[in-house]
Amino acid sequence: MVHFSKIYFDHNATSPLHPEVLKVVNEAEGVFGNPSSIHWAGREARKKLSAARLQVANLLGAHESELLFTSGGTESINTAIQGVWKQQTGDSKQKSRHQIITTPVEHQATLRTLEFLESQGAEIVFLKVDAQGKISLEELSQKINDNTLLVSVMFANNEIGNLYPIHEIGKICRDQNILFHCDAVQAVGKTLIDLKNLPVDLLSFSAHKFHGPKGVGGLFVRQGVALAPLHYGGLQEKKMRAGTENLSGICGMAKALELVLQDLEKDTFKINRLKEILEEKLLLKVGGLQIQGELENRLSNTTNLYVEGVDGESLLLNLDLAGIAASAGSACESGSIDPSHVLLAMGFDEVRARGSIRFSLSKFNTEEEVDFVAEEFSKIVERLRK
Ligand code: PLP
Repeated sequence: MVHFSKIYFDHNATSPLHPEVLKVVNEAEGVFGNPSSIHWAGREARKKLSAARLQVANLLGAHESELLFTSGGTESINTAIQGVWKQQTGDSKQKSRHQIITTPVEHQATLRTLEFLESQGAEIVFLKVDAQGKISLEELSQKINDNTLLVSVMFANNEIGNLYPIHEIGKICRDQNILFHCDAVQAVGKTLIDLKNLPVDLLSFSAHKFHGPKGVGGLFVRQGVALAPLHYGGLQEKKMRAGTENLSGICGMAKALELVLQDLEKDTFKINRLKEILEEKLLLKVGGLQIQGELENRLSNTTNLYVEGVDGESLLLNLDLAGIAASAGSACESGSIDPSHVLLAMGFDEVRARGSIRFSLSKFNTEEEVDFVAEEFSKIVERLRK
């Protein structure tokens, strides 16, 4: 068996920059003008910005006028959700719409934004999820009423990898004339997204999840959807996102998206195969393991495992000592790990929610790494159980 000193199986947290993307970022750093300046330096920068916007728009099936560049997933999600809320509170005709429907398995960027809006008078309604993390479309239809302003559901879950029925949710929202925001941070770059045919009004994404730079992302705002800006300042991004654009980051994101979509089918097949091998080996070597979430309908790169009789944090620390980066729950302020809110929402108790671990792979991983992780994992679990 090949021995590794470092293995990275935590790509849903963030992913390494693609070397080709780094080249594009470095090159764009040389274009120093402010895209809002009217002189030659500004024009050079604006040209690059426009080219990157067109490229991202084409790759996602959007029109370039429908894309806002942001500092990443969290800002896109805040801009979408708070933007819809602020826009309607200024519009007397729609003031009665104060209900927002979501799921309890969303990322904290959504949950905390909604918590804030609740303090501002919004009514937040959570759809139930079952033990596999699935939602019910019937429940969504039942929950929608005259007060519903927005539905926000993620495309793919970062912890368990479940894919949610975005087409169907979008159709329900369209039929009822309700805005639909989708947090696609874990989906863009891992699955094909064609915004021409996807019935969403707003869609958030983030470059560092698909081998792009950190601190840059985007929000798709379908033509005709009105939003109030989150903060105030310059007139950039159609007055929707004040502040000088992160040009090199945006160019890097466009390149990263191009590269990741170029071989998506082939790479997805490879990543899925690696995940299957990892799961097969682990299930064979280690007793008391259960894969959590939907088995079929999930991201090809994600596996979330319940390890009976083992604390996830201890497992994570021991894996780290062996050079293996994985993830469990979410780090809380004290630096330790909180039980996963996703697993708790699925009805599992705290012990189980603490005894779980997530591996998330990418095309840069290999079968040799999978073998090594399976071997180390089984040794560590055996030790911890003793
Ligand atoms: N939404 C999901 C599903 C995520 O996984 C993440 C990041 O982990 C975010 C939103 C936040 O994205 P960012 O780190 O770019 O702010």
